[in-house]
Amino acid sequence: MNRQGVLLVVSGPSGVGKGTVIRELMARRPELRKSVSCTTRKPRPEEEDGVDYHFVDLPAFLRMREAGDLLEWAVVHEAPCYGTPKGPVEQALAQGQDIILEIDYQGAGSVRRMMGGGAALVFMAPPSWPELKARLERRKTESPEDVRKRLRTARREIAHIDLFQYIVVNERVEQAADELAAILDAERLRLSRSDWRGLQAEVLADAEADEQ
Ligand code: 5GP
Repeated sequence: MNRQGVLLVVSGPSGVGKGTVIRELMARRPELRKSVSCTTRKPRPEEEDGVDYHFVDLPAFLRMREAGDLLEWAVVHEAPCYGTPKGPVEQALAQGQDIILEIDYQGAGSVRRMMGGGAALVFMAPPSWPELKARLERRKTESPEDVRKRLRTARREIAHIDLFQYIVVNERVEQAADELAAILDAERLRLSRSDWRGLQAEVLADAEADEQ
């Protein structure tokens, strides 16, 4: 039976390990696609344009927004803009392919308003607040001021937890990936994504043929 693709949205504070858990999930579910966001932030040394993000300047970002090319967008960490290109998401869903969005809580809220039950919203949480602080400070990819900004953003993220339908606590990557896979698998089986009407039509046609 054909089915519509799942739009799996994963949010959570910076440093919680979303990227690592999503990579692990994608190794287990290789058919899952990942949306590549646009951002006005500068690339980090290890990041590749078109793979990690589409790195764009503000005028280009605003042009995409004005043209309606973004499914959602938000200002995160008090400056850079981030947005999800609409085309690849619509294409994937129409083809019955599942696609994952790693976006902030504001973007998750927009997706929820737009897609209603069509999206599965997952919040990835740290085992505790002190653990998140320690992870961010250990990471050393950001300046102390950036770490403070990310902690402020993290507080806002956690304040909006009730926007989500699922919570995955990332204590161990393996287990968090198992839980995310379980959510994806269950979402794939939603009646609303299947073309059960085709089966009903077959049954009705058969019943009519029987009566003749
Ligand atoms: P980073 O700068 O560390 O790569 O990402 C910062 C935050 O921006 C992440 O928590 C991520 O969830 C969020 N983000 C990345 N892409 C998007 C996007 O397309 N839309 C929204 N709303 N948030 C995004």
